[in-house]
Amino acid sequence: MKPNGTDAAQGPLVLAVEDEEPVLRFLRTGLASQGYRVIESGTGKDALRSAVQYVPDVVLLDLGLPDMDGLQVLASLRAWSRVPVIVLSARGQERAKVEALDAGADDYLTKPFGFPELLARMRVALRHAVRTQGAGEERVFASGGLEIDLVDRRVKLGERDVHLTPIEFKLLAALARHAGRVVTHKQLLEEVWGPQCVNESQYLRVHMTHLRRKLERGPAEPRVFETEAGVGYRLRLPEGE
Ligand code: CA
Repeated sequence: MKPNGTDAAQGPLVLAVEDEEPVLRFLRTGLASQGYRVIESGTGKDALRSAVQYVPDVVLLDLGLPDMDGLQVLASLRAWSRVPVIVLSARGQERAKVEALDAGADDYLTKPFGFPELLARMRVALRHAVRTQGAGEERVFASGGLEIDLVDRRVKLGERDVHLTPIEFKLLAALARHAGRVVTHKQLLEEVWGPQCVNESQYLRVHMTHLRRKLERGPAEPRVFETEAGVGYRLRLPEGE
């Protein structure tokens, strides 16, 4: 299917891969109203054809498609493309979500999801794609009162310097590099401790607890980190980013 809108439309091009008409309608109407151009695919085969033909800026990928598993679609896409992919999954597909993220998906949303949440995830994915193509990493990450200098390895919370152990810093830096996106347990264990430690999830739990204690104002009011149960962690971006 051809992108909607006129030739003058210049918003980012979204490939929405989804076989449920109500979800597709929700995506089509909402995204068009925000200036996005939308291509729709109801099957995996059609999605892969459209990805080649139109080269979208971002892909929304349902995991349960009539002809193929969404994970297969993702694997075929990743063989040649780094386009940001946001997986749309049903509740109870935790394992599939984790597999999708480990296979190169950028993020996921669990159905039913709210439109503002979708837009926020898409902005993060698009911005990250631009940054990856650009001059490399930013040196300083700042969100709310938290400031992380990735080169000097300094962390400040408001006016206060926070002392982190080397492992805590590595863990925080890994989350900051993917800020706004969920990073799976496996990805964090691999990045911080190395590929031989991908099953040592207790390392992660212990050090996340320490990081939280040092950086969150209180356990009842998490502002810095979000836990995605059974999947991973996300470093929050300030509202509106
Ligand atoms: Ca489906």
